[in-house]
Amino acid sequence: MNSSTCEHVVYTVSQDLVKYSSRLPSNQGRSLLVHSLANSFGVLSSSYGSLRRVEVVKPKEATNDELGAYHAQTYLDVILHEASTDHEPTDDMLDQFGLADDCPRFVGLPKYARLVAGATLTAADALRFGHANISINWDGGRHHAQKSSASGFCYVADCILAILLLKRSQPALSTTLLFPVDPSSTKQRKPRVMYLDLDLHFSDAVSQAFYSPGVSDIPGHVLTLSIHHAAPGFFPISPLAQLPFADPSTAFDPYTLSLPLLEGASNRTFAAIWPIAERVKDIFDPDYVIVQCGVDGLAGDSKYKVFNWGLSLEHEGSLGWCVSRIVNNWNGRKLFLGGGGYNGPNAARAWTYLTSIILGKPIPVSTNIPDHPSHSGFPLYAPSFTLDVPAGNMQDTNTVEYLAEVTRQFNKACEALQQRSSASTDSIGYREMKSLFSKALRFQLHSPL
Ligand SMILES: [Zn+2]
Repeated sequence: MNSSTCEHVVYTVSQDLVKYSSRLPSNQGRSLLVHSLANSFGVLSSSYGSLRRVEVVKPKEATNDELGAYHAQTYLDVILHEASTDHEPTDDMLDQFGLADDCPRFVGLPKYARLVAGATLTAADALRFGHANISINWDGGRHHAQKSSASGFCYVADCILAILLLKRSQPALSTTLLFPVDPSSTKQRKPRVMYLDLDLHFSDAVSQAFYSPGVSDIPGHVLTLSIHHAAPGFFPISPLAQLPFADPSTAFDPYTLSLPLLEGASNRTFAAIWPIAERVKDIFDPDYVIVQCGVDGLAGDSKYKVFNWGLSLEHEGSLGWCVSRIVNNWNGRKLFLGGGGYNGPNAARAWTYLTSIILGKPIPVSTNIPDHPSHSGFPLYAPSFTLDVPAGNMQDTNTVEYLAEVTRQFNKACEALQQRSSASTDSIGYREMKSLFSKALRFQLHSPL
């Protein structure tokens, strides 16, 4: 779908979401920086003058039932209650639920969990009810949270909850509007949800949740593709984090795809592998695309100095360039989520910039950070005081030979995906109908009045 003047973008934020997200121990204050920078650049204003219209929406709080669509009740019982002296879980229980080390309980955790999941579900609802074509929750993208435990700074599995919600929704409105069908027809296609993860880390919890090798030969309705760093000892350790056929002991599922990159991955490497993401998307043909835009792979991350990825869409293969491709050229409704990113000012730069790209009016990266009274943290943007997060001088160790091996394995994976995706299913009716409708439309367009 090309850019259209009628597209509508929902941006989820509220004072409470900022307040509680800013308490996340791994990213204290980050949420406040992100939303106040976006606000100071004016991208959240109806007068921003962008191609797509933005609407700021206050997120709901996720209910017990909504969280229980994935999480175990025993885990929710602990994270949804403030720590108190009564009925405190033992240290063993906290260990069991992952609430130690990098995921300690903190004051406001119950509200945080409900708001972060609620914001992603609010954003997903805007898509499934046809209120927006694109929605954003930069406080979401918590891709390591497990069914019964916190992990990797993630307490609540908002990505998984959104996939489950969209997967169970009615056929996409765009489909039914474009291709009107007899309501009694049973041949409407179930929605297909593609989850693309651009964080430095493998999307272990999300990929594992939908991994189902060898159980069926019919097309799947959820596809996960994680592009990340993997190396011995690098979090998270998972057999699914490797190239599709790298580990013979791990059964291959063409709907659970993983593309590990080596240290120093730069714009050049992302440009080289991007056709793989495009090919996977073309074969799967999603109705919804969820993009986890973790920014810990950008150059200058404070905690992880592993990749050397740039931001500016002027450079092919950069994060901005990839997001621009998705938002302007990919079909389907899109949900953009945040994720990792431990240099707070750089995360604020990146997500403000991506918001401007998503809205269709990119801010030039050389623009100065506004020294605005309402803007939190201006001195933190020293020394450049500009929007850009430029690549550094780290060596890119993704050699031509390694990238050729990636391409070879994904050629094989895409063949398997193509085979499964074209198997006989309920989508046949849809495809026939789509073809007939396209022919009818062409006929109408070319017929003399
Ligand atoms: Zn990460």
